[in-house]
This record gives sequence, structure tokens and C-alpha cells, in this order.
Amino acid sequence: MKVHFLGCGDAFGSGGRNQTAYLLEDGGRLVLLDCGPSALFALKRAGFHPDALSAVLLTHLHGDHFGGLPFFFIDYLYNEPRSRPLPVAGPPGTEQRVRCLMALMYGEKELPFIEFPVLEPASRASLAGVDISAFRVPHQTDAISLGLRVTISGKTVLFSGDSSWSEEFIHQSEGTDLFICECCFFDIESTTHMSYSKIAANRDRLRCKQLVLTHMGDAMLARCEALPVMSAYDGLVLEI
Ligand SMILES: [Zn+2]
Ligand SMILES: [Zn+2]
Repeated sequence: MKVHFLGCGDAFGSGGRNQTAYLLEDGGRLVLLDCGPSALFALKRAGFHPDALSAVLLTHLHGDHFGGLPFFFIDYLYNEPRSRPLPVAGPPGTEQRVRCLMALMYGEKELPFIEFPVLEPASRASLAGVDISAFRVPHQTDAISLGLRVTISGKTVLFSGDSSWSEEFIHQSEGTDLFICECCFFDIESTTHMSYSKIAANRDRLRCKQLVLTHMGDAMLARCEALPVMSAYDGLVLEI
């Protein structure tokens, strides 16, 4: 499986990075993890066609993680119509929020071939040949944020979404090939986002084969090259 880091920035455009979007490529299967506003542009720049997407999986409904969907829909409506359904799976409320965003940006439109499976916390699902395990992470109090464990052809990627530290990551990282872990802060204690100091203190307990930090704010970006953990950048491609 190849993992394309299409966008690994935070909500503030720190470092001039694209907003969240990771593309998992396995054979002809393409799964997009989160869909920040710059996702369509980044996908095309990486040489992929939007019609080739097999599924979109959303961790939560913050703009930097799902605000790019209307651009895909416009592309499907006016540029390259889809020939097969596209599941856009996310936490409860995803369909309503996505339709609302689409209506705000482009007016009410039919969305042919778009389906909205719900990912409940502590549940498993199988979509387009992809096995998904969803679990709740501490990021919002007014809505559900998910971490996702995604398995394709025997390779497993764990994605924290946006989250503060949780012991659940120790359990969920067991047996994974890659853990894409958000790291907004360097040493700030937060109930909504992760800090490097917390990750470093728990690094030996994480059971992933590879750890990559992402969603970094300015303080992390200024230090990440000197740290003993791999950091993401836009355009990074990992083969796992
Ligand atoms: Zn975010
Ligand atoms: Zn968020």
C-alpha cells in the first residue's frame, strides 16, 4: 500500500501546508482519509483523477477535515461524472453537515452516486474492500470525533484524526503498519490536541511499526526536523 500525504497542515495553514487529506493507494483502490479544503487540488497535483476514488472516510466534521467535499461534488457534477457510487463515511451527522455545506457553497444540488454510511464509535465497517475500525477520540465535546484504523490487503493504517492524548492509542496501535498521529503542539497540555511531549513520553508504548507526526502548528514545525520521530510533509509518499 502507498500512503500519499496530500495535506498534512493544521486548520491555520501553518507552514503554508495543505489541509488534512491522506490517500491510501492499493492496486486500483483509492481511499481518502479526511478531505480538507485543498484536497481536490492536491489529489490532481499528485496525478490522480477524482473519479478513481473508492471511498472517503472522515474522522470529524471540522472544516479543515471535510470542507473540501463540495469541490469534489462539483467536479463530479460538471467535469467528470462518477460511474459508480462513492461512499463518504463519517461520524453520526455527516450526511446532514455535508449536504448543508454543499448547499451553502453551491446551492441545493442532487448528489448522484454519493452515499453516506455512518461510522459509529466502537464499530467496524467494510466499504469498497476496506476494513474500518472507528473509535471515539477526545477532541470535541459537542460532537463525535473518531480515530480510524483502516486495513487494506493486510496492511493497517491508524489515523488519530484530531485528538488530545488518549490511552486508547496504545491499544489501537497494536499490530499497525503506520500510525499517522496529529501533533499540533510541542509542549502545551491541551484537552483537544496532542503535544510532542506527550507522544515522546509514550513512544515506547506505541506498538506501530512506523509513526509519522502530522497536523503540526508553528512551534512543532520549527522543531520537527531535529526530533527523533518522522514528520509528514505535503507530497510525502510512504510504501508500507
Ligand atoms: Zn484539524
Ligand atoms: Zn478538529
